[in-house]
This record gives sequence, C-alpha cells and structure tokens, in this order.
Amino acid sequence: MDRKTKTILVQIYQKLYKKFGPQRWWPAQTQFEVIVGAILTQNTNWGNVEKAIHRLKAAGVLSARVLRDISVTKLAALIKPAGYFNVKAQRLKNFMRFLFDEYDGNLKTLGGEELSHLRHKLLKVNGIGPETADSILLYALDKPVFVVDAYSKRFLYRHNLIDRNADYHQIQELFMGYFDHDTAMFNEYHALIVALGKNYCKPNPSCDRCPLNRTQYSLTFKCGSCHRAFLKGEKRIAEKSGFLCSECRV
Ligand code: SF4
Repeated sequence: MDRKTKTILVQIYQKLYKKFGPQRWWPAQTQFEVIVGAILTQNTNWGNVEKAIHRLKAAGVLSARVLRDISVTKLAALIKPAGYFNVKAQRLKNFMRFLFDEYDGNLKTLGGEELSHLRHKLLKVNGIGPETADSILLYALDKPVFVVDAYSKRFLYRHNLIDRNADYHQIQELFMGYFDHDTAMFNEYHALIVALGKNYCKPNPSCDRCPLNRTQYSLTFKCGSCHRAFLKGEKRIAEKSGFLCSECRV
C-alpha cells in the first residue's frame, strides 16, 4: 500500500468535509426513489431528474409494480425532462423486470444479496453500467462500494493521483483499496467530490478559491490545457497559451 496516497486521500476528505459539511445523500425520500433517480441521472443534471421524478409522483406511478406494468411510451412521456427519455424509459423497465424476475419485486430481498454477487447481476441488466450499479448499491441498499464519476476522475487526474486513461475500476480501487469498506464514509466522500466538481473543479477550474489548492499541487506549475499539476522534474512545453504537458501538446 502506498501510504502517501492514502494520506493525501484522507487529507482531501477532511478538507472537503470542512468546506462543505455533511451532504446527507442521496437526495430522495425512499429507497425506490434512489434507484429510479440513479437510472434517470445518466447524462443529465440533477435538476432535470428532480423534474422527472416529480412528474412520476404526480402521476402516481412511482412504485415498482406500476412501473413494471406501465407502457414504455407512457413512461417515456412522463420522464421527458430527464432527457434521453425513450432510452431511460426502457432502462427503467429493464430494471423492473429484473427486480420482479429475480426478487419478486422485493427491495428487501434484493438488498439481502451479497455485494459482489448483486453487483455482477446488476451489471447484466441492459442499461445499468458501473456508476449506476454502484449508486444503487451504495445509496439505495447501503452496501459499502465507492461510486466513481466524471468529477472524481477530473480532480484525481489534476492532482496526479491517477493516469489520464485510468478506467472506472482503477479509480474505484484507489478508494476501496486504501480505506475500510465503510458505507457512511463512501457515501459522504462521493457526495463531497460532487460538491467539489460543481463548485470548483469545473472544466475551467477555480483553483485559487478551492479548498484543495495546496494538496499535492502547485498552482504555479499546472498544465494550461488539462490543468493537471506537473510532477516534479516533468518537462513543460512553452506555448502561447502558457505551459502545456506533453500529452496536451500532441
Ligand atoms: S485545486 Fe484546482 S484542480 Fe484541484 S480540485 Fe481544486 S479546482 Fe480542481
């Protein structure tokens, strides 16, 4: 185990928690609503998901049995604000079919499954990828798994904690390999990373105001394009736009 990396990840958590406080995720009223939200939030922002969920509630269809029986066309019309509504309606139907075929529609039975076995089964449901599966496992079913998203990848890369090409499972392993598998901590850490990504570590980052601006990072030595911190001794290439790393120069 690389102790330095673990120390940095702990520091990052502490700084983010100090800045943002407890996030109390997931923003939903029921376990089932978390699952629906996790499917609807693919490729859209949370505000659009909230609108779609509000419409499902207003129509009285936000239950597993009703969503299983409703026509895909009607469901697509109801979730329109979430975008990609035809695809997402089919994905919701796929999940409901899985829930009833395998668990008789019972979320308690679903949650009683062993983590890795259930994760494997969820990933076989058409339209459920790693981020959606892990969001369901962590936030709906209280399983200790770390959720990775684009915000995580962006800030970890900028702080030299992952390679540019790191995949989902490599990033997940960074957290699950270094920390105890603690549901509450994984819940909070991911939510804090989302707060970081929305407020500071945007495509054009606000490093000067960011709580992580002194964490294994020098604002003086960052690539002008991808905003990754240069490693000590790394070659920097001068361009009109400032210094670029060798990857961004290509
Ligand atoms: S210091 Fe800059 S690069 Fe690092 S997390 Fe904050 S905004 Fe992102």
